[in-house]
Amino acid sequence: MENGSELEKWGFRGNEKLSAALASAVTVRGILMKLFESLSKDDPRPTVPLGHGDPSAFPCFRTAAVAEDAIVDAVRSAKYNGYAPPVGILPARRAIADYLSRDLPYALSPDDVHVTIGCIQAIEVTMAVLARPGANILLPRPGFPYYESRAAAINLEVRHFDLNPEKGWEVDLESIEALADENTVAMVIINPGNPCGTVYTHQHLKKIAETARKLGILVVADEVYHHLTFGSNPFVPMGAFGSIVPVITLGSISKRWIVPGWRLGWIVTNDPNVLHLSKRLK
Ligand SMILES: *Cc1c(COP(=O)(O)O)cnc(C)c1O
Repeated sequence: MENGSELEKWGFRGNEKLSAALASAVTVRGILMKLFESLSKDDPRPTVPLGHGDPSAFPCFRTAAVAEDAIVDAVRSAKYNGYAPPVGILPARRAIADYLSRDLPYALSPDDVHVTIGCIQAIEVTMAVLARPGANILLPRPGFPYYESRAAAINLEVRHFDLNPEKGWEVDLESIEALADENTVAMVIINPGNPCGTVYTHQHLKKIAETARKLGILVVADEVYHHLTFGSNPFVPMGAFGSIVPVITLGSISKRWIVPGWRLGWIVTNDPNVLHLSKRLK
């Protein structure tokens, strides 16, 4: 295969554009590996891995026994060995809808819920649905690099808006208005925030909703850390403003229930009366 002419016979090249995009987006794992390599050599000092996104690596974090029992019972019942509907089985969608509705001023229906393989697949599916030719999406900076990698893979143009460190990493709403045009399909917020840990106030989320409504763009709310908050702001789901602007909420059990390996996530349409997204996405 060293021989150039031998290689030319084959259609396979790999996706060069994608590998360049992935390298430039700088993955979380890539940075952690670099840090790890540079620290672990002869330095005797202990390290605290603050960049580690998997709490199950620490024995003090263990999910609830009822959750483990539920998995064991489900496997032993032999009722769930077959293919499930692509959107997820009804009891799971209903449980997710009921659980998330506890924080909302209206009730979600199981039809609003699409079960995914962790929040990562929720991001993938949502971006793929939004990426019509020529579209662009607004992403937070700093943010979660997986959004940039996915956008590159599907030719969705990315425009970054800044989070303002002087104002607790709130969204710079003026820059949103300057960035958006007729091809902007959505803006993404991560709340509670990764990597900054901010928990947005009710008031700020409402302003985000009003700005997005004015611009005619959806809000994609990555709430994978929902209810895992530091500081005094309580968690408010973006879906609480679903009557102002259609919201697509992404989440999973990975972080809150300390089981990222179980790979259970969701895409939820919070859109009781604007576009009725759950009907349109069928
Ligand atoms: C961890 C994380 C995800 C991925 O969640 P999984 O359920 O593990 O796939 C998505 N978004 C953010 C902001 C995250 O921190």
